[in-house]
Amino acid sequence: MTSDSTPANFTELGLISPLLTRLTELEYRQPTPIQAQAIPSVLAGRDLIAGANTGSGKTATFALPLLQQLFQQQQSEKSSSDKSHKGNFVTGLILVPTRELAKQVADSIKSYAVHFNGVIKTVAVFGGVSANTQMLALRGGTDILVATPGRLLDLISSNAIKLDRVKTLVLDEADRMLSLGFTEELSALLALLPKNKQILLFSATFPETVQALTAELLNDPVEIQVQSADASTLVQRVFTVNKGKKTALLAHLIKQHEWQQALIFVNAKNNCEHLAEKLAKRGIAAEVFHGDKGQGARTRVLEAFKAGEIDVLIATDIAARGLDIEKLPVVINFDLPRSPSDYMHRIGRSGRAGEVGLALSLIDHEDYHHFKVIEKKNKIRLERENVAGFEADEVIPSDVDKPMAKPEGTGKKKRKKKVQVNADIWLRHSDPE
Ligand code: AMP
Repeated sequence: MTSDSTPANFTELGLISPLLTRLTELEYRQPTPIQAQAIPSVLAGRDLIAGANTGSGKTATFALPLLQQLFQQQQSEKSSSDKSHKGNFVTGLILVPTRELAKQVADSIKSYAVHFNGVIKTVAVFGGVSANTQMLALRGGTDILVATPGRLLDLISSNAIKLDRVKTLVLDEADRMLSLGFTEELSALLALLPKNKQILLFSATFPETVQALTAELLNDPVEIQVQSADASTLVQRVFTVNKGKKTALLAHLIKQHEWQQALIFVNAKNNCEHLAEKLAKRGIAAEVFHGDKGQGARTRVLEAFKAGEIDVLIATDIAARGLDIEKLPVVINFDLPRSPSDYMHRIGRSGRAGEVGLALSLIDHEDYHHFKVIEKKNKIRLERENVAGFEADEVIPSDVDKPMAKPEGTGKKKRKKKVQVNADIWLRHSDPE
C-alpha cells in the first residue's frame, strides 16, 4: 500500500454498520489508501477523480458510499412516506468498459450489500448475451445499474431503462472505456443524464481524452492519485531472451516455479492459441481467454482459473480487462503491451490488496526499444536480467526476422552488465495465504 494514506479503519470513514459487518466478514481489515482517502469525500457528496487501477480497492471505494447513500435515501423516503415512484429508473449508474468487469463490479456490490436484506437492487447489463433477460431484470427499475455503454444505449432505446433520475454516475476505468472506442456512446449517455449528479471517475492513466472528459464533467472534484503499482507488494522484473527461445523460457519458468494462477498476456487472439499449443507440447496445460470465445466459455474458463483448477491462463488485454482475481501471484508479459498505460493495467492485476506479486516481462531484441518507452512513460527503470541457459545474444541472432529496434549494447556503447538470475529469490507465491 502506498504511504500517502492516513491509516484508518472503516468505522472512522463514516460507514454504517450493515456495511462494516460485511467488511469484517470479508476480512477487509483496513481500508486501502484510496478507500481511506476517498470514501469520506464521496459520502459527503463530492465529485471525485481517482487515479487508481485494478487491485487498489477502487470498486469498494465507489460501491460502499453508493450503497450507503442509496440505503439512507430509502430509509428517509420510507419515514417521510414520500416514496417516489420507481418506474424503470436507475439511481446509481456505473459505466464500465467490459462485460467481465460489469459482472465483477455487480457481484462485489451485491456482496457488500448482503446486510441490507435485499432492499438495494443491483443489475448488470452488457453485450454479447441476449438483451431479454436484462430487460426483465430491469423491470420496475433498479437502484444500481452496472453497464457497458453500448448495451446500455440499446436498452434505453427499447425503453427498458431511463437515466433521468440518476443521482450518482461512476465512470470506472475511464481511460480504458475511451481507448476501447466508447467515446461516442459515452457522449450519448452523458447527454441523457440529469444535470445535478455526483460523478466519480476512476482511471489508471490520464491521457488527454480523459483529461478533457474530467474538465467537462466534474464539479470541483476531490483528486486522489494512488500509485498504480506498489513496490512493497509487487516485484517487476524483465528477462531478456532471444526471440526463438521465448516460449522455451516461459515453459522453463512455469515448470520451475510451479506457478498457480499465472496470467500470461499476448497481443492477439491467434497468439493465445499458438502459445497454448506450444506450451501443451512442452507438457503445460494452459487455457485461453480472448474475445472470440463465447460468453459461456469465457465465464467457465474464468471460474476455473479463479478456483485454481487452471494454472496458466493466456489472455489478450481486451478480454482480460477488469479481471478480478484475488491474490493473483504472477502476471507475465509474453508480448509487450502496445501502450505504456496498458503495462500498468496488466501488472496491476498482480500483488493486489497487500499480497506480494510478480510482474514479469520477457523481452527479445525487437522489444528493447519499446520497453524503454514503457519504462520512461511510467517512470520506472528495471534491471535487464538473463536466466541461465536462456541468455539473450549481444547482437540480434539470426532467428529474428525483422528487427524493429537496435538491441541495447550494439554499436559503440558497451552492453550493460548482465544480471544472472537466482530464479528462486523472488517468490513463494504458491503458498495459499
Ligand atoms: P479492486 O481494485 O476493486 O479490483 O479490488 C481488488 C481486490 O481487493 C478485490 O478482490 C477486493 O475484494 C479486495 N479488496 C478491496 N479492498 C480491500 C481491503 N480494504 N482489504 C482487503 N481486500 C480488499
